[in-house]
Amino acid sequence: MREPGQAGGIEGAVVQRGDADYEAVRASMVWNGLKPERFPEVIVQAASERDVPAAIGLARSRGLRVAVRSGGHSWCGSSLRSGGMLVDLSRLRRCDIDMASATVQPAVTGSELASELTASGLAFPTGHCGSVAVGGYLLSGGLGWNSGALGPACRSVYEIEAVTADGEVVRCNEDENADLLWAARGAGPGFFAVVTRFRLRLYGLPGAIMSTTYAFPLAEVQEVSNWATGAANELEPNVELTLVLSIAASHMTQAMPRPKVIVVAATAFADSSEQAVQALRPLQKCPIADRALFQELNEPTSAEALYDSGGLWPAERRYAVDTLWSEADFGTLLSQLSDAVERAPSDTCLVLAPVSPASRDEDLLRDMAFSVLGSSYVVPYAIWDDPAEDDISVRWLREAMSTVEPLGTGHYIAETDLTAGATRAERSFTTGDWQRLQALRARYDPDGVFHSYLTP
Ligand SMILES: Cc1cc2nc3c(=O)[nH]c(=O)nc-3n(C[C@H](O)[C@H](O)[C@H](O)COP(=O)(O)OP(=O)(O)OC[C@H]3O[C@@H](n4cnc5c(N)ncnc54)[C@H](O)[C@@H]3O)c2cc1C
Repeated sequence: MREPGQAGGIEGAVVQRGDADYEAVRASMVWNGLKPERFPEVIVQAASERDVPAAIGLARSRGLRVAVRSGGHSWCGSSLRSGGMLVDLSRLRRCDIDMASATVQPAVTGSELASELTASGLAFPTGHCGSVAVGGYLLSGGLGWNSGALGPACRSVYEIEAVTADGEVVRCNEDENADLLWAARGAGPGFFAVVTRFRLRLYGLPGAIMSTTYAFPLAEVQEVSNWATGAANELEPNVELTLVLSIAASHMTQAMPRPKVIVVAATAFADSSEQAVQALRPLQKCPIADRALFQELNEPTSAEALYDSGGLWPAERRYAVDTLWSEADFGTLLSQLSDAVERAPSDTCLVLAPVSPASRDEDLLRDMAFSVLGSSYVVPYAIWDDPAEDDISVRWLREAMSTVEPLGTGHYIAETDLTAGATRAERSFTTGDWQRLQALRARYDPDGVFHSYLTP
């Protein structure tokens, strides 16, 4: 690794294209095993918050456009751009808890934050996979554990500190730079400043977390979706319900080869076990239970076990992911996508369909660039290991999406494949919010110092 401190008073390493360690550093910027062929001129590995304005100053003096990276979990690797400077914030990992609020730097991961909070009897709607950093997650909206009750995670960001395009450090809250805070609640990988600190409102730790799971043969997709989404209308917001089209997990079947299934997975976050059982009651009576290959009702679980569901997304794999909001019902969307899952090039490909992932309460969705853009939401994942299967896997994802896209009303900026279409970013916002974001970008970054959204 190069010696720190070579340029512009920057304490951290400054890695130039052509340096011996450049490719290793570049590849490490993206968590996905599939690394985009995009090459920044220079990568600044900020050693502290002070390095961020220094990096912006250096970029301006050299006429380099700036991209930013916190935890590298953007599926499409949006921080890696061709040319310009990449500011890597992965060393900014402080997390301070003070009563019912926390100050976190952008590279703190969801599981790091959750374990600090658990120790203090507190909770926050962190992302479903513990290794996702708060930086890009909070900026994108953040659909996390218990977001049905607590709202998207960005709703609980009450202040940020950010470095603007002219290198100024600003505080943004409801009184100061309120419009930059509004943008930081959802603009995601097109935000036009560098966030160095988030201040978060915290919640009480649930006394009990409990899950109910069913798995049915994939052929039952329509009927299962109709039953589960009907039952969802009776669930309290503190129950998170997700439908998954995938291969059966090994604990669900002894059949070999394992069949493709539709899983109905519900997680209740409650004060006590009794309340959790009560909350899961609408799923207790399943009229098609006799067709289930697997069922497990009211199973106590823990925050640690939930983060383990990150086992769905091992770090070494290659991924291509896309999202769709729609007004079509889940049965219609998932019937189309079940054909794709049957034909998937790899058994690890899957489709997640979180039901009401961001709350149904309009009050929890105010004052943010993030919006819920449909009544149904699906996320297809191509997941594979062999680089020789890159093309076939990406093609599978695009074909799967093309079967449901005519029914689409938008995308979710955190996980949509920005390389799949020129309108992906714009269609991740309402028209009014998109126009406001453009106007704010022109005001806060008139010289275009920061890259805008990645495009194909
Ligand atoms: C395994 C996995 C599970 C996921 N689960 C969820 C989930 O449950 N819910 C959900 O909502 N999302 C989820 N995501 C999506 C995730 O929230 C986004 O990919 C998010 O951008 C990741 O944050 P990051 O800091 O690691 O991203 P990075 O790749 O580091 O950054 C992505 C982009 O965000 C911007 N950015 C990041 N940090 C900053 C900053 N400090 N200042 C300014 N701009 C910045 C930059 O434009 C950058 O290009 C998941 C992703 C993965 C890989």
